[in-house]
Amino acid sequence: MLNFTVGPVQSKESVLAIGSEQVPYFRTSEFSGLMLENECLMKKFANATDDSRVAFLTCSGSGGMEAAIMNSLNKSDKALVVNGGSFGERFVELLSLHGIPFTEIKLEHGKALKPEDLAPYENKGYTSFLVQKHETSTGVHYDINLISDFCKRNNLFLIVDAISSFLCDPFDMAATNTGIMITGSQKALACAPGIAMLVLAPSALKRISEENKCCCQYLDLKLALKNMERGQTPWTPAVSILRQINVRLREIEAMGGAYTEVARCAELAKYFRDKLVEYKLPFEIVSESLSNAVTPLHPTTQSAYEIFLKIKDDYGMWICPNGGDMKDTIFRVGHIGYLHKDDYDKLIDAFLDLREKKFI
Ligand SMILES: *Cc1c(COP(=O)(O)O)cnc(C)c1O
Repeated sequence: MLNFTVGPVQSKESVLAIGSEQVPYFRTSEFSGLMLENECLMKKFANATDDSRVAFLTCSGSGGMEAAIMNSLNKSDKALVVNGGSFGERFVELLSLHGIPFTEIKLEHGKALKPEDLAPYENKGYTSFLVQKHETSTGVHYDINLISDFCKRNNLFLIVDAISSFLCDPFDMAATNTGIMITGSQKALACAPGIAMLVLAPSALKRISEENKCCCQYLDLKLALKNMERGQTPWTPAVSILRQINVRLREIEAMGGAYTEVARCAELAKYFRDKLVEYKLPFEIVSESLSNAVTPLHPTTQSAYEIFLKIKDDYGMWICPNGGDMKDTIFRVGHIGYLHKDDYDKLIDAFLDLREKKFI
């Protein structure tokens, strides 16, 4: 099966090889060394300041979102949260669950965040801001500089869910003054699912250590950070995935760093989007602001979910279906993971065949 979803995505042989090995014992100096190298490369690729730290949690990306909220915010905060799709909605649910006062900036699906969406909230006593850098469900890539400037002006602590944009869209933690960047192992990092990573700026470390009591032992970042001083985790982590992450980070470093990996995804995204236009396929791009991670498409002649099923069952490829009220109107084609241009040629051929058969 060829996989064009947005996670889990296709992995390179070097990553797959680790998945087939015995899991090594991890309370060793060798594993600690690997973890400290992971921390160093994660900071480098996120362009975090030297005094930033990284927490590696054994959970999916959503666990990372919950850990960020539980450890850095409390009831005396007043948060602003952008909700433009299912992942924004998840932040809203988490803030409600943990009793953090918040205001939601609700955006229509597919719409970019604009200065007028933020204007009503200038100088209104907010303390923090939560946003997906890329709202994967609708494929909208928000303007992080607009958000960052707003946060700097209003002195807001910025939490960025970069789970689907880290390593496929440019991101600079230091320049944007981001407090916490959240990402996961199974998106552009292209490893197995199971590890969430939080890159924590000094502003986050201060909130975590002094101001907040975390009411969950497993996700307590104070414990994670204390252990990470020696390259360890408080509990048995997903050891093999951390080893896969190490291989990937080192490979990216050897290829020229985050910038080169971002450029590679951008090239694949452009290749696919150009083909859509060239063959005049009956799909409309529905996002006002695209990420390199994914192309969200509205098929004009057939249900999106039926197309997903057909491509899976008759052509052996996964495109990415949408859930909820977007099920029949939107499907997505991903550009992250170990994919090449000729893989997109196969997908385009399948679409052309479906048009020939009058299915689309
Ligand atoms: C995939 C994704 C998540 C959730 O990650 P899980 O690993 O499925 O928990 C959160 N936010 C964004 C933007 C994502 O793309």
